[in-house]
Amino acid sequence: MPSSSTQAACSSSSSFSDYAEAFAQYVRRLVQTLRPVVVEAAVHSAGYCARLIGEVVRSAQNTARTVLKKLGRPIQNEEIAVPSPQAAAVFSNPNYRASPVQILAQIARGNRDSDANSPARTICTPRPDGITDWERGDHIGKGSFASVYKGYSKEHKLFFAAKGVSLREHRRICHLENEIAILKPLDHENIIKFYGTERGGEMLYIFIELVSHGTLEQAYKNFCFNESQVSDYTRQILQGLTYLHSCKVVHGDVKCANILVTELGRIKLADFVAKLKRVGYGFPSDIWSLGCTVTELSTRKYPQYNARDRVSLDRAIRSGEGPVVPDYLSDTLKDFINQCLQPDPYQRPTAADLLAHRFVNESSCPQPDLTELLF
Ligand code: ATP
Repeated sequence: MPSSSTQAACSSSSSFSDYAEAFAQYVRRLVQTLRPVVVEAAVHSAGYCARLIGEVVRSAQNTARTVLKKLGRPIQNEEIAVPSPQAAAVFSNPNYRASPVQILAQIARGNRDSDANSPARTICTPRPDGITDWERGDHIGKGSFASVYKGYSKEHKLFFAAKGVSLREHRRICHLENEIAILKPLDHENIIKFYGTERGGEMLYIFIELVSHGTLEQAYKNFCFNESQVSDYTRQILQGLTYLHSCKVVHGDVKCANILVTELGRIKLADFVAKLKRVGYGFPSDIWSLGCTVTELSTRKYPQYNARDRVSLDRAIRSGEGPVVPDYLSDTLKDFINQCLQPDPYQRPTAADLLAHRFVNESSCPQPDLTELLF
């Protein structure tokens, strides 16, 4: 017979196993109840983590792209140059004695070198912060829809171009407002710079960088450019177009009359019929126009087409038949133009592709060192 202590032990062990069983069942039920919740939570957190990782990767890519863009970007007009490492080494030598002009020339050379190969470190001068107090000067140009005047801001001591249309001309206002919206965020040395806008009295004005030497059309009518100069201008136009297209903007009216040139030979794309473009046909059409522009610049006249009348000219342009490329141009230049005029827009090279073409490639067309002219 089992003793009372043994009975007590047995009964306590059976009640313990009952409790254990009950507890195990409770845990199983709990797990069953919680499983869908846990799975759902896991799925959600995985999704959240994936989204978070995606965001981090995207933002890292954006930062990398911005940094690369900044490093590879050509020197801006208003930027104050920081000397290249070689120039900095020369300047830090205590025995080095140079005139201020020599120092500036060194900096310019260092920056020109770093344009192509190494990071160009620059400090941007901010744009004038709202031009309010200004005076209108001489009339400097007239297009089909706007008049352009010299402007002077007393506050910023800045000369600029004021392009204005009458507030009574609704169509012209829309055109200028479109140009303002497109130009405002852009910032590249080969794109005309936006300084501000004013709507007052009778007129709506856009204030832009003043380019005193007029358009490439005016320039080629006065002077005869050889292929080396055409190459230099074309490269700068391409730099402007590459930037523009990377900002998803189609210029829409690339031609010598819409390209301004400074006294130092800097090219500025202006007079935008620009549209914002997500995808599609617009970018290749800028390249087509570039082919015509380079032909115009090389021959000093508008490109000629093999067409007898207006209707066949329209048909030729629509079917992608290019203008006549004169035989006397060099093979390299003809090849460049023919690539721009490639009939199939989807086969046409991009502006960035064309920057590698040997016609504009700096290594095959050495550029004169303008800073040497200072001495
Ligand atoms: P379009 O008929 O091509 O539409 P538009 O009415 O837009 O012309 P623009 O071509 O922009 O006017 O300007 C007319 C003229 O004014 C130009 O041909 C040029 O001579 C001059 N001009 C325009 N912008 C500037 C500038 N930023 N600096 C100096 N001159 C300029």
